[in-house]
Amino acid sequence: MAEPAQPQPLPEPLPEPTQPEPPPLVLPHGDHWMPAFQRLYPMLECVRCSLRMAGVWYRDVFLASEKRLRAAMLPVLGEFSLDLEKPIGGVCFLCLGMLQDADVEQDTPLMSKEVEAIVNQIKKKGYVLPEAAEPGNATTTNSDKKLGFILGLTLPASLAIRDQAALDWLETVVNIFDRRSSGRIEVKDILKFAIERHLQQHLPCLVPAPSPPAPGTLNLDLSFWKQGVDAEDYQYVCSIMPRNYLDRKAYRRTRKRKKHAGSNMENLCTSTVVSQVIGAAMGDRDVKEQLAGWFDDLRENNFEYSEELRGGIKDAAVPALATVDVTREAIYLKGRYLKYSREMPQTLWLLDGGVRKGKASVEEVISEPVKEWSGSENLVLMGSGREDMDVRMLGNGRPFLLQVNDPRRVPTEEGGEEEVAALQAAINAKTGLNSDGDVCVRELRLSDRRQVKIMHAGAAEKQKLYACRVWVGGRVGGEVLREGLETKRELVVQQTTPIRVLHRRALLTRPKIIHEMRCEDIKGVEEEGEEGRREGKEGGKEDEGMTEEGVEKAPGTYFTLHLRTAAGTYIKEFVHGDMGRTRPSVGSLIGGLEADLLALDVTGVVVEEEGEEEEVEEEEEDSDYCGSGEEGGELTWDA
Ligand SMILES: [Zn+2]
Repeated sequence: MAEPAQPQPLPEPLPEPTQPEPPPLVLPHGDHWMPAFQRLYPMLECVRCSLRMAGVWYRDVFLASEKRLRAAMLPVLGEFSLDLEKPIGGVCFLCLGMLQDADVEQDTPLMSKEVEAIVNQIKKKGYVLPEAAEPGNATTTNSDKKLGFILGLTLPASLAIRDQAALDWLETVVNIFDRRSSGRIEVKDILKFAIERHLQQHLPCLVPAPSPPAPGTLNLDLSFWKQGVDAEDYQYVCSIMPRNYLDRKAYRRTRKRKKHAGSNMENLCTSTVVSQVIGAAMGDRDVKEQLAGWFDDLRENNFEYSEELRGGIKDAAVPALATVDVTREAIYLKGRYLKYSREMPQTLWLLDGGVRKGKASVEEVISEPVKEWSGSENLVLMGSGREDMDVRMLGNGRPFLLQVNDPRRVPTEEGGEEEVAALQAAINAKTGLNSDGDVCVRELRLSDRRQVKIMHAGAAEKQKLYACRVWVGGRVGGEVLREGLETKRELVVQQTTPIRVLHRRALLTRPKIIHEMRCEDIKGVEEEGEEGRREGKEGGKEDEGMTEEGVEKAPGTYFTLHLRTAAGTYIKEFVHGDMGRTRPSVGSLIGGLEADLLALDVTGVVVEEEGEEEEVEEEEEDSDYCGSGEEGGELTWDA
């Protein structure tokens, strides 16, 4: 049995990991950035934004602690005396405080709080991380196991408009135009570098992962938000944009706008709006001057919005805050399941009023041990098609894919096969929800997201094998069944959508193909209730659960009909005819007798996987998979 997920001990997020003393911070030569910096800093009170708008690109400059950065700046500033030791008064108009450290004396890296929140959440949710190599053990130092992570950063999109306004102000109002200052390093880039670097100091097993993420990758989502900024910027942009630049659709559309997770506020400055404004500012002198004027007005008002625009921004001194959400990419397990119960739906079936129909579902039975092992709270089973609750699934089983969302533990790279084999054994052990041995899983292995599409398409299923226990209202001998059913090959049946599924399927008549039929275990019951002769060979093991002596009392003929059909054929209707909606039917083929279906088993599913056919090996001995042997005795068509 798999052990429940146990979180590995994580290093405490604080105090800071001991790092070697960093080399002195070197600033680029001041000639090209100093003039712009001197104009910007007194307004923004943000060293990093003033540097990046002035055209400084050095990554290390931005990632240094506030204390180190200021220490490096002071000698360079020379005659330009700025009180860099004075505490920051307000929140930066450009980065909304994300690049400012309120305490100018602190020596902690940028984004320390956010990284601490990420590490705490990893710890709290109990994600099992790769074990670090033991210190000092030379043989394991280089084979440290790594875990990929993807950092998702969401910032107010209008920050790009604010950056643009500042650049336009430098160019049109201050007349500082430098080719290097026309571009800039964005707030988002700096935050990303800072978080990634700082996070890896705390959890060295984490490495940035490529996109799209592989199963098991950690998703670290940070979303920064400052109440009111988006709405104010949007209103302002609408007031300055010339009419011919406005794509009405982008501005007016109020539905389908992404809402911000933390605030549930509608995002008004969408990426479309932002790119239109910036595009206009690039090509239109008037727009450029309008944006520059906006920045200038705000500067004069100490970056306070005017009364008529102001509304949403309650407190200009409150920086943007982050919400942190750590999840793990789903893992996928594929396999085949067999179901021996006639009271078990594939997925939970609730009647009105929340009453469960049938026993625990196949999904719940398979999920139970996987849930316990992986720590996931959300598992979804996708079957390649499904059988009705009262239909057994025998033969080679039905292909399925189990999606394990946000798993705390995932199979390891080197021991994954054994771990998955142990999960299969745990599912098949007759314990918990599976104590009656109703479900058996085979060929369980790791899969990926691509299988989801194949499962959902349903087109993966090509052919299906069935065994049906049939009753017909009349005495019928083996010869009639042979002539009426067994000699028919590739029989085309016209099926009008069955009454029982009409509420969810369109009313259509579709041709379906019955490839082959074979009858066995024929039993006649006389009018007086006396049992007649039996024909055909003794029923195979699959007939256990097919014939019910107590039930087969009504006068007529009972037999087991084996079918191989195209996927999508309605078997119940093919047997009883669905009041003439399926033509021909079993009854009509043997002389217009009344026919009914007493029990149905799926005995094989032929699927197409990733373009390749996978044939059901009908003769395969499967007893060592499940131990019950009930699925043995498969059909042989050419017998
Ligand atoms: Zn800033």
